[in-house]
Amino acid sequence: MWRTLMACIAFCEVIMAAELPKTAAETSNYLSTSRYADVMAFVGAIQRADADIRVETFATTNEGRALPLVIVGPYTPRSARASGKPVVFIMANIHAGEVEGKEAAQMLLRDLVSSHRKLRDDVIVLVAPIYNADGNERISPEHRTTQHGPLNGVGVRENGQGLDLNRDYMKLESPEARGLIANVLNRWDPLLTVDLHTTNGSYHGYQLTYSPTLNPNADEDIVDFERGTLLPHIRAAMKERHGKETYYYGNFVEQLQPEKGWYTFDSRPRFGNNYVGLRNRFTILSEAYSYIDFRARVEVTHEFLHEILAGVDKYGPKMMKIAAKADERIARGKLRKQGVRFKLEKWRDNVEILWEKSTAAEEGQGGPDPWTEKGAIVRTGEIVPMRMTDYGVFAPTEREEVPYVYLIDVAATHAVDILRTHGISVETLDAETTLKVEQFVVKEETHAEHEFQKHHETTLTGKWKSREETFPAGTFLVRTDQPLARLVFYLLEPRSDDGLIDWNVLKQPVWKIEKAVAVAATVVP
Ligand SMILES: [Zn+2]
Repeated sequence: MWRTLMACIAFCEVIMAAELPKTAAETSNYLSTSRYADVMAFVGAIQRADADIRVETFATTNEGRALPLVIVGPYTPRSARASGKPVVFIMANIHAGEVEGKEAAQMLLRDLVSSHRKLRDDVIVLVAPIYNADGNERISPEHRTTQHGPLNGVGVRENGQGLDLNRDYMKLESPEARGLIANVLNRWDPLLTVDLHTTNGSYHGYQLTYSPTLNPNADEDIVDFERGTLLPHIRAAMKERHGKETYYYGNFVEQLQPEKGWYTFDSRPRFGNNYVGLRNRFTILSEAYSYIDFRARVEVTHEFLHEILAGVDKYGPKMMKIAAKADERIARGKLRKQGVRFKLEKWRDNVEILWEKSTAAEEGQGGPDPWTEKGAIVRTGEIVPMRMTDYGVFAPTEREEVPYVYLIDVAATHAVDILRTHGISVETLDAETTLKVEQFVVKEETHAEHEFQKHHETTLTGKWKSREETFPAGTFLVRTDQPLARLVFYLLEPRSDDGLIDWNVLKQPVWKIEKAVAVAATVVP
């Protein structure tokens, strides 16, 4: 009784101490999205309303903007870990034309200091409401014109360097990505990362679509739990509590022929959802549907965030056990074969998917297929359940054994910096050492014709050959019994479709040693 009374007094004081802020979307009647200054003012007001809210800067952009990480509760990374509570990290606005996540994340923060305080007993929430702040400040009504609002415009996809931050998770060329990995993922080790976007693909019947990690190298138990339990639970809650249809992200390969199937996107870890999977953690990509109006997109994203947190409230302890076991298996050296190349595959046949009925356009009518951007079609507004194959997963087409250790040339210091920013432990040989190693003998090296993210991506073909090699002192060494072993493999394998060879960071392949062997080496501090 006494406790309840005290809590009530504290709560009432909070309410009286400071008025809860409104978002720029709310105050403009959803004509505008928040500017960087609006978000910072909102976060400041939230802090004034609740002294337990902490804000850290996790990165500074090229244009000098400090990126806020809002910590809901009086936690440090150490006390968060000691609490035994699941940590959920929500990030918004990685693509600054896709703005409703930024609005919904602010609303969620307000809920967590007012109506939904109880959730904080069980879950630690971290929010990065404006990841691509530089892109956000280029707001113009000329951007994403097929998107239904906000009328006063949105920002751009790229950051201040012209890079797509959702392709930068492996090569880490932006200060935003380096800060995100070092100061959020490495320091806080979130159990679940949620990444908020907007999709303007096919015409379907879902207000929001979502995706778990899609890379088959992720831990099977994590993926199975997310696909088998967590996401179905959230989907059912969205339907029951909010009356909204949601499903796995995808597109019709042809809008006019939905029976050809529903296709997901990509398995490479340059995308955040796939990257987090390689860190043995849970991840949800959220894509609000860009053809519903801005207010509806903010609403559905806000509801989705609440249902995600409710899902973690329910399943958090179980998810933490699954993630801990995945880490343990790696520490025991149980990580074996992993893929280096992948192909899209059928997940399930005969799945009911909501299609917006569309017809071939008469001459001079309609618009192109939103996914293929070809032909001319007319939308009818009628949503029809259709049975089709869901091509929602990937499978390896080529695999390699995970070695005991990789060796990297003493001169490849830039590659080593990237590994270490990812949180990977790197050692150096104490003295000149002769070792029996596998060397990748290159047969062919090709560079992509088209530039992508300022790179012509490299593909090597070749063969591993055993040989004896003498390495100088200082040669870098990376072991695979460390927690981020899946990432080590993906970054260093010469045939990896998203590794440091692919991104032209490493100019020559690394060496590897398959079986455990004693090597005198010291961890780079
Ligand atoms: Zn996006």
